[in-house]
Amino acid sequence: MSATTMLRRVSLGAAKSFGVGSGRRCCAEAARATRTEPGPAEPSRLLKQASVYVHWPYCLRRCTYCNFNKYRSRGDSGDSAMAECLQRETETLLGLSRVASITSVFFGGGTPSLAQPSTIAAVLETISRHAHLSDEAEVTIEVNPTPVGMSRLEDFVHAGINRFSIGVQSLRDEDLALLGRDHSSQHALQTVAEARRLCPGRVSLDVMFARPGQSLERWERELAELMSVCDDHVSLYQLTLERGTHIFKQAERGQLTLPAEEVAAAMYQAARRILLQHGFEQYEVSNFARRNAISHHNTNYWKGRQYLGVGPGAHGRFVPLGEGGVVREARTQTLEPDAWMQEVRHRGHGTRRRIPLTHLGLLEEVLAMGLRMTRGITHQHWQLFSSEADLYKVFGSSMDVKELLLSGHLILDDRGLRCSWGGLALLDSLLPTLLLALENQVKSESKEPPCDR
Ligand code: SF4
Repeated sequence: MSATTMLRRVSLGAAKSFGVGSGRRCCAEAARATRTEPGPAEPSRLLKQASVYVHWPYCLRRCTYCNFNKYRSRGDSGDSAMAECLQRETETLLGLSRVASITSVFFGGGTPSLAQPSTIAAVLETISRHAHLSDEAEVTIEVNPTPVGMSRLEDFVHAGINRFSIGVQSLRDEDLALLGRDHSSQHALQTVAEARRLCPGRVSLDVMFARPGQSLERWERELAELMSVCDDHVSLYQLTLERGTHIFKQAERGQLTLPAEEVAAAMYQAARRILLQHGFEQYEVSNFARRNAISHHNTNYWKGRQYLGVGPGAHGRFVPLGEGGVVREARTQTLEPDAWMQEVRHRGHGTRRRIPLTHLGLLEEVLAMGLRMTRGITHQHWQLFSSEADLYKVFGSSMDVKELLLSGHLILDDRGLRCSWGGLALLDSLLPTLLLALENQVKSESKEPPCDR
């Protein structure tokens, strides 16, 4: 598994990095440029429901590896303005989407555990006023295991949170310092214990591997420790060097070295094995659950469901029925918090970019997201978005896809299309072939000449 094929976590916040995979091809881009006609209307039952992602943009300080949309916290004084604007935008986007029911809510960031619990309660109350938010709906908040975050857990539960996602990242203090995290391993352990007391069975741990100087043996030992304290959900992701980050510059100057690609690949495989031994089922590239404690919110992304993105830099995917829209749009909110707040005050929302998804664009997302799940894409799932061409028709006749099927990395059968155990780790390298087959099929439906690559 190389750097280009190793899969990274699709972050809990779609706002951070929601995309259809890296290394896209010229054909798809050309197709976007030439095929801008909207796709067919989505089945009405898909339009009645959505998830909501709420982005809290502030952090206490900058982690050395982070290139997410985040800003230095201004303390509680900035909270009320942000709270007011989050409510206003939630109201506007719910009105635009006309969804009747919100199936899950996710507060991500940034560091949403810096927000006042009253802000979380106010946003949830706004949702409940404009749509049905059942008591069973999953409502998650990302928590940095600092003393500030920990002290608010109980109040978050009173505000309506019923699931915690805790950014543990590592149980080694020296590594936490190197990553610029503002917590210690002791803080992490205390926060996990407290979260488990408050929401038993609904606590997820984020953990990072392939850290500077980390060996496979050290990673395995750390995972064993983690297994003794974790709850029923774990998200793993590989540290990657993002241009412009502090850690990137350190690596460029030779001040630190990341494990070699084959070591990182071995770490991923070791983690899959160890989690399996401890009763976890891998249900997505980076996500593992036992006792069925999967993240329903993220599963909605991977199943291609609608979601509203609220807050600076948040992304959304929904049909704006409220203004007569008939096709799904990819919407991005303004990044910078002050500019975003100004826009929200001025026109009710801070949407900076709206791109109507073409039929091909929507199917590309359904394909790339769906294959991240171990169950893959069932025939029924695909039919929701592609009533004319089933999975066999789209992928069964491509010689290149047949090679992937023969290699054992990909499976197409009565259950649908999915990656094998080995194929899942290589998904990024399988996707270009599948996307090309999809593109040629959609073009042939619309009588356009196939891409000759
Ligand atoms: S807490 Fe999260 S969002 Fe904030 S700087 Fe660290 S990694 Fe980035």
